[in-house]
Amino acid sequence: MATVRLILGDQLNPRHSWFDRVDPQVTYVLMEVRSETDYVKHHAQKVIAVFAGMRRLAEQLQAAGHRVRYFRIGDADNRQAFAENLRQVFAEVGARRFEYQEPDEHRLDEDLATFARTCGLPATMAPSEHFLDARDGVARHFQPAAKRWLMESYYRSVRVRTGLLMERDGTPYGGKWNYDHDNRQPWKGRPGLPGAWDLAHDHRALWSEIEAAGVRTFGSPSAERFPWPRDRVEALAQLDAFITRGLPEFGAYEDAMHSTSDRLFHSRLSFALNVKLLSPREVAEAAVRRHEADPDAVPLAATEGFVRQIVGWREYIRGVYWAKMPAYRDSNDLGHQMDLPGWFWTGETRMNCLRHAIGQSLGTAYAHHIQRLMVIGSFCLTAGIHPRAVEQWFLGVYIDAFEWVELPNVVGMSQHADGGFLASKPYACAASYISKMSDYCAGCGYDPKDRLGPLACPLNAFYWDFWLRHQQRFANNPRIGMAVRQAMAMKPAEQAAIRAKVAQLRADIETL
Ligand SMILES: Cc1cc2nc3c(=O)[nH]c(=O)nc-3n(C[C@H](O)[C@H](O)[C@H](O)COP(=O)(O)OP(=O)(O)OC[C@H]3O[C@@H](n4cnc5c(N)ncnc54)[C@H](O)[C@@H]3O)c2cc1C
Repeated sequence: MATVRLILGDQLNPRHSWFDRVDPQVTYVLMEVRSETDYVKHHAQKVIAVFAGMRRLAEQLQAAGHRVRYFRIGDADNRQAFAENLRQVFAEVGARRFEYQEPDEHRLDEDLATFARTCGLPATMAPSEHFLDARDGVARHFQPAAKRWLMESYYRSVRVRTGLLMERDGTPYGGKWNYDHDNRQPWKGRPGLPGAWDLAHDHRALWSEIEAAGVRTFGSPSAERFPWPRDRVEALAQLDAFITRGLPEFGAYEDAMHSTSDRLFHSRLSFALNVKLLSPREVAEAAVRRHEADPDAVPLAATEGFVRQIVGWREYIRGVYWAKMPAYRDSNDLGHQMDLPGWFWTGETRMNCLRHAIGQSLGTAYAHHIQRLMVIGSFCLTAGIHPRAVEQWFLGVYIDAFEWVELPNVVGMSQHADGGFLASKPYACAASYISKMSDYCAGCGYDPKDRLGPLACPLNAFYWDFWLRHQQRFANNPRIGMAVRQAMAMKPAEQAAIRAKVAQLRADIETL
């Protein structure tokens, strides 16, 4: 029976069971469409990377004997939307069935479910075979009415279920579930960095096609030396390079930032994971195997810290997304209303930490977790930027930004806009944290130790004002109450001076 199977741009897993055997009745459809390039303005590298990966998978499937119908962004018969192109392919091949893999985004889930109901053919949604858990796995782990879902509790259940880093008697390796307190050191030039394992593809022809089609993007395309993987072989080589060279120091310097390196010891595997070139299980297992082979070189703290990101945070975030969408998107529990300053699109601010983190994001479509959370995110949170504006910027800028993982990280973890459902404390920091964890303050024209003077670091006044504004809400929070009580203990004149300073900073936000 002639069957059309749709493959989305983040479904590039060549090991999906769909491809186990060649069936001449099956046509695989991949399409580069404006409905996907235009729902938010994306970083140029993100559009190139997804299209390059799709083209490569199509080549591989064809080489293996599968039938493939591919729509390039500039093709004359490309109607630039899933439904229209699919109807065209149905007619071309005389389709009798339609199949698609479970999408990861709410928007596409709804669109494809509607299409499946109305396309006139029997339609089936197949599992994507990527995640360790079902969409509702996290929700099933917790009590539906619980005020807060603690990641740690879910993570432990995944460890038990998968046996990752678990002894035979059901206890965790080393007797502890979490080695975070061994991590979180600043990096001061030692140990040596692992060096880059980036690729250098020439994607100038593809970039010209994207530009000629009129797709609006921002950020550097880096098309001559394109660093992101196109296929599984390249992604596996990057996984191997990270496990060998980056993982040993990953834990210790997980929270560090430095102006000489955008990644330090981070893996930069999120793109390969999110487009499903790599599976979370194989990435976690590779880390555990390396630790088991050489526990002296690859400490348990590093391995556990990394495994927690992949099988804990990543799966948990996805579960929160599916449990809370679509209402979650509009969360704004702290009532923040400001627009993003224009320098989020240029990186041109005198605050050195933000200039680095934003400039790097615009240049490379990448920033590591602490740059996202404690520099960019914390600025937006304490300055009072509207979470939706923050969320849209993050969704566009990062190579790995797909809504299911980006939105809860921004709205919940970073902007605390969900009332603390996801994160047990707001991630707000002043200059002292940036100064401790990075070298950014050394090259800054602002004074990280000053709160109120003309050259005082703006992060300081924003930070204290944030606790003053939200003191009722956070005073009893055991993880953060001390900062709030410190703010409340300030003399009224000092509190007033902070508020006045923040009013001025807000008025001058475009030129900070
Ligand atoms: C405000 C904010 C926005 C974020 N937006 C995204 C996003 O759009 N897409 C995305 O994949 N991650 C996002 N993250 C999570 C995390 O910052 C990135 O996964 C990570 O920086 C990617 O770089 P890496 O591959 O070098 O990660 P590493 O530090 O090497 O971590 C390994 C892997 O763990 C996973 N991981 C780590 N932390 C998280 C997390 N909090 N949630 C989900 N997975 C995690 C990622 O797959 C990552 O590749 C965001 C975090 C914050 C605070």
